[in-house]
Amino acid sequence: MISLPSIKTLTAPNPSPMTLSGTNTYILGEKDLIIIDPGPLIESHLKKILEIIQEKEKVKLILLTHHHLDHSEGAEWLSEKTEAPVGAYKNLKLNPNLEWVKLGDQDLLKGDSFTLQVLHTPGHTSDHICLFLTETQALFSGDLILGEGSTTLNPPDGNLKDYMESLYFLKDLNPEVLFPGHGPSGNAGKRIQELIQHRKQRHQEILDCLQKGITEPEEIVQIVYKNLNPSLLGPAVGNVKAHLDTIQHGEKFFK
Ligand SMILES: [Zn+2]
Repeated sequence: MISLPSIKTLTAPNPSPMTLSGTNTYILGEKDLIIIDPGPLIESHLKKILEIIQEKEKVKLILLTHHHLDHSEGAEWLSEKTEAPVGAYKNLKLNPNLEWVKLGDQDLLKGDSFTLQVLHTPGHTSDHICLFLTETQALFSGDLILGEGSTTLNPPDGNLKDYMESLYFLKDLNPEVLFPGHGPSGNAGKRIQELIQHRKQRHQEILDCLQKGITEPEEIVQIVYKNLNPSLLGPAVGNVKAHLDTIQHGEKFFK
């Protein structure tokens, strides 16, 4: 019988329209722990992680799904306290004084009773990884797939073609449960399908604007984003630019 690894979720107190209820930190395992996304440098949050792990020696690795500060900023603090190295995709730029492990696509990371597979999944950022828990087919999806709504694709680091290819890859992987970087966990297959549909629809709406001669990203946003929260205007413009980039390059990637 496979014993299922323990997964503890701790949400950082940094809620916002971008981070939803806050950044999710995941603590996996019982004896040899792996922490996914320590979150922002908020001492109350980081201290709670230490309380949960009890013995700092148990932490084997601190993983970052990508470089954005709401996921990575607490890594140095936590690495110092636990003496565990930080693992991140090989092109992510970390403080050179930090002990860190450069990860590649498909790398396998062993905990006490579980294996995490590293999946390079660019789109939200070029250094983004998802972590696939092979024993239970659970997917830790970082900011590529959020628990609610859709992620930002701010070019040039954000890229729509990469994002769609990552989604199609994950769809074929067929994970069971989703543990996102923000928002609630849920059915992975359903979320992936929703997001593919959402992007296809958005792409068509933007093509329709272009056909009517509306070409400025700021103008397109006003038409395709209904009831947009004003604080999300910047990210929405970024998303529209990501779509326009692919149209300009004549890239066809919607299956
Ligand atoms: Zn992010």
